[in-house]
Amino acid sequence: MTDPFVHVDDVAKRWKGQLGVEGITLSIPRGSFVALLGPSGCGKSTTLRLLSGLELPDEGRIHIDGRDVTTAAPSERNLSMVFQSYALFPHLSVAENVVFGLKVRRVGAAERREKLRRALEITGLLGYEARKPGELSGGQRQRVALARAIVANQPLCLMDEPLSNLDAKLRASVRKDIKKLQVDLGITVIYVTHDQTEAMSMADMVVLMKDGHIQQTGAPEDLYYRPANTFVAEFVGAPPMALLDGAAVPGFERAAKVGLRAESLRVAEAGQGRLTCRVSECEFLGSETFVGLTHPAANGLTVSMPGLKHIPPGEKLEIDFADEDLHFFDAKGNRVGHPDTATA
Ligand code: ADP
Ligand code: MG
Repeated sequence: MTDPFVHVDDVAKRWKGQLGVEGITLSIPRGSFVALLGPSGCGKSTTLRLLSGLELPDEGRIHIDGRDVTTAAPSERNLSMVFQSYALFPHLSVAENVVFGLKVRRVGAAERREKLRRALEITGLLGYEARKPGELSGGQRQRVALARAIVANQPLCLMDEPLSNLDAKLRASVRKDIKKLQVDLGITVIYVTHDQTEAMSMADMVVLMKDGHIQQTGAPEDLYYRPANTFVAEFVGAPPMALLDGAAVPGFERAAKVGLRAESLRVAEAGQGRLTCRVSECEFLGSETFVGLTHPAANGLTVSMPGLKHIPPGEKLEIDFADEDLHFFDAKGNRVGHPDTATA
């Protein structure tokens, strides 16, 4: 394997004993799209700020493009950044905001004009050059921030929740713009989000964090089909994986926890199912309905049924599943291959 473009080796950051992150090790290939995913406070921004040089680690090393940049200033790391708060100058026009960094670096006027035109073209902002940020929508402002990152022409772009100020529809469209940009420009993007849909749909590689530690690193499908522990199982996918006490699952009583995804469940004829549940609610999504179920030994059981279904709450429903669709976890919540090794 060739050397990774970004290499983080056992990095830790603390503030007066308050943990930021610990044991962070990452190998990021050139040209990839990496999502740092996890709930609020898990250490995503801290990791990104350590990569950018806005924070310096207490332990560990950071290499970018073969250079040890552990203590290098942000300006020496050849990267651009995009934040949730667009960080635009309100008194400058779109054009002035986009080329601000080029001016600071004394790039000539002709080159600035050409780079500006190209960046505005890519972000769909041609014609908006003279507007002030206050005269733009949230989505347009975020595009200006993207355009600014594009003209910087750096091989690495760090983004911290860049879409969280946008409404759902705009988020979906700018999400596609960012992904296309990353592919077209061939740059490496490290993207912070707490939204698992965003991470799963955009990233080549997802890094799921909790309490300052990495829980699992892998392709979206790795996290979905082979969650390393029950935290990953419940964080990734909508609806989350249901977790059952092994003792309640006929044939798998020796497993501490058994995991099941909604699409692996099916409704069985009365007397034929392996679990008898009660309907709690129906959530109609258009092409399918998620039917929430309760069972004394299960958490988050949902069965996906095609089309529109109205089932009254409290109704009895028997469910069944194929053995090969089950996931097994030990008493600590870590994934194990076989229920016999998952004994509580
Ligand atoms: P996320 O971006 O995933 O929401 P952060 O990386 O911002 O999380 O924070 C991780 C942890 O580090 C949190 O517990 C947070 O309170 C703490 N933290 C972050 N920055 C500082 C700081 N400057 N001083 C003290 N604690 C901090
Ligand atoms: Mg953050």
